[in-house]
Amino acid sequence: MLQSKLFPKTRKEAPREAESVNHKLLVRAGFIDQLMSGSWTLLPLGWRVVTKINNIIRKEMDAIGGQEMLMPLLHPKTIWNETGRWETASEIMYKLKSQEGKEYVLSFTHEEIVMDLLRKNIKSYQDLPISVYHFSTKFRNELRARSGILRGREFMMKDLYSAHESEKDLMRYYEVVKSAYTNIFTGLGFDFRITEASGGVFTDKHTHEFQVLSSGGEDTIFYCDDCSWGANLEVFENGKADNLCPRCKKEKIKSSKAIEVGNIFPLGTMYAEKMRVFFTDKEGSKKPVWFGSYGIGPTRVMGALVEVNHDKVGIIWPPQVAPFQVHLIELEKNAQSVYEKLTKAKVEVLYDDRRISAGEKFADADLIGIPVRLTVSKKIGDKIEWKERTKRNAALLTFDKVISKLL
Ligand code: ATP
Ligand code: MG
Repeated sequence: MLQSKLFPKTRKEAPREAESVNHKLLVRAGFIDQLMSGSWTLLPLGWRVVTKINNIIRKEMDAIGGQEMLMPLLHPKTIWNETGRWETASEIMYKLKSQEGKEYVLSFTHEEIVMDLLRKNIKSYQDLPISVYHFSTKFRNELRARSGILRGREFMMKDLYSAHESEKDLMRYYEVVKSAYTNIFTGLGFDFRITEASGGVFTDKHTHEFQVLSSGGEDTIFYCDDCSWGANLEVFENGKADNLCPRCKKEKIKSSKAIEVGNIFPLGTMYAEKMRVFFTDKEGSKKPVWFGSYGIGPTRVMGALVEVNHDKVGIIWPPQVAPFQVHLIELEKNAQSVYEKLTKAKVEVLYDDRRISAGEKFADADLIGIPVRLTVSKKIGDKIEWKERTKRNAALLTFDKVISKLL
């Protein structure tokens, strides 16, 4: 990609209303744009990052038997009345009316929609278990949308849903999803904790949240580094008073600000009972399906990555989600042939071919945060300067050495 053509260009100043690090840096570097509070465009650079995050998630979902599909965003009132959520979830819903007076809601989650699919398609225990997911937009009337792309009123979610013949099978799969989520967030390089959270309206069980330790987080979590116990503020306050870990009793509990990037819910049979999703078991009797739902917010993940990977001058992308693998910079010497050779070797390159000063190019490279910066210049001669975003020192390498380090 030629940087002269990249839309849009970087900005020197953060928007005046920006409070959070991800908001300031992602806007300045040209990854996102705010249409109104809580509503964001993923610009070409941002879309490249989110696509890579989605692919990391997709790989793990497919590996645990999830089948990808796509559900609608416009839902009829009637389906939300079946579970009572038209009323109980009212405050986060965007409800609308057609000219004919029919009532709808924009998707804020999809449990009811999956339940409707199940009751149309499931007959016997032989049809179970089922595991389906999609990546799609959610709309939520969030009161505070101040944390940049961490909290949108319209945002992307990967939501997985599973249906089972027994509680035992649901809880078996719940652990499978937990470990897939652990792989995803480990793969993204996050320092995270799995915390117990309360179940909300539809389950009296605890759910689990995946919380990234970050001073930019809105949540407060408590955890033990000795035995992996963790809880969010709500559960912790209902739980115990002293300072020792409630599970291992050895370590003192730590606390931290954190960003919730994922949440898994063992929902039980409540949905199936309300929406009449029954199957015939081995003995021939009708039973409600056991249901679970599991969410990750890829756009929030992008924001969280910036919150924990940046310095004073810009973003520092982990290589696996960086918009490009290398940022190629030419200074008073054409780097077109290096660009072509790298591209041919299937390296993703952002090529700064603009006629601006070295200082401006380097500042943009630091701001955008691609892991490797390669500089071709008159001064350096035939070699290429290799500099990593995380390191201070640079090295002069031959093209072959550059390629062997990249592949
Ligand atoms: P929060 O407690 O932060 O409001 P939630 O518990 O309501 O989130 P879930 O319904 O569990 O969110 O959604 C699953 C995932 O979707 C979250 O873990 C998060 O990654 C993402 N997500 C939720 N709300 C938002 C939002 N407003 N903007 C961006 N991502 C979000
Ligand atoms: Mg949650």
